[in-house]
Amino acid sequence: MLTDKYARRFTYLRLSVTESCNFRCNYCLPNGPDCTSRKNEITLPEIKRVVTAFAKTGTKKVRITGGEPALRKDLADIIRTCKSVPGIEQVVITTNGYRLERDLDTWIEAGLDSINVSIDSLNPGTFQMITGDSRLPSILRGIDMALERGMQNVKVNSVLLRDYNASELPEFLQYVRDRGVTMRFIELMQTGDNRAYYKRNHVSGQSVKEKLLAGGWSQTIKSITAGPAQEFSHPDYAGRMGLIMPYSTDFCADCNRLRVSSRGQLFMCLFAEQHNDLRQYLQNDDSAPLIQHLHDVLQGKAESHYLHEEFTGATRHLAMIGG
Ligand code: SAM
Ligand code: SF4
Repeated sequence: MLTDKYARRFTYLRLSVTESCNFRCNYCLPNGPDCTSRKNEITLPEIKRVVTAFAKTGTKKVRITGGEPALRKDLADIIRTCKSVPGIEQVVITTNGYRLERDLDTWIEAGLDSINVSIDSLNPGTFQMITGDSRLPSILRGIDMALERGMQNVKVNSVLLRDYNASELPEFLQYVRDRGVTMRFIELMQTGDNRAYYKRNHVSGQSVKEKLLAGGWSQTIKSITAGPAQEFSHPDYAGRMGLIMPYSTDFCADCNRLRVSSRGQLFMCLFAEQHNDLRQYLQNDDSAPLIQHLHDVLQGKAESHYLHEEFTGATRHLAMIGG
């Protein structure tokens, strides 16, 4: 089992398969990906080796992320490969949703267990202002398709933004009234590239929490393996609401995740100053050296990020490592 010196156990791998993206979310990649974003992407055999090594040390869940993972033409093979590794129980994806309608059935057939879809506004005009994309109706149909297929744990993520969606809580509540999805607001995080935008648009999730509690929502008790989101349920709603508040105290206390970038680098934290190149360990099927390396480097994992002190580490934008 992979553990660090603070006794945190790591059972969840977030694997980025590309830095590139076709959206231009104004808090993430306002000018689009740079021209090197598709260079040196982790290959299918390397993915199999990295997931195998993590699975042998206790990883049970893999989230495929990016950039936009659906830009990978071999995404179904990536899903199938991750799912076939002994010990991996769940393979899930975080996507902007632009390929959901077209490819969801192929991904399910390959073994996909669930999806997180990023939708920062339910208003098509606001959605387009934030992302530069006009396909919101298709993305929403894709989510309904997933529900019709019986997919469990479908989540919608929305970054809370003062100038754009901070007043859209009623629309999102309406969205989950009859849909069994979890709608989560993520507090905007400062990265190397978005300092001015962050200062203008960051809103604390606390105000949303207060509105939910006042509206009869109750906070649910988290299981030990749950992620960092606080979740809320309401007897009149089919779906749930959630909040991810990285600036709250103790956010890192139950961290259970590690990240590998599309260039084969281990990031021990979203906002780590340094990453650790794993590529040399991914060139043959012997996982013992990589496992030893993971145990060694994890002892250096910091107790917490230092975002409160505006320390964003080497992270220019979250497309680098998949959020
Ligand atoms: N392209 C996919 C998507 O948008 O879902 C996967 C990658 S994206 C980097 C993963 C998540 O990170 C998305 O939900 C996105 O909204 C979120 N994200 C990106 N930049 C962020 C920031 N600065 N603060 C908070 N969340 C951010
Ligand atoms: Fe692309 Fe996701 Fe970043 Fe938006 S948040 S630009 S969809 S990687």
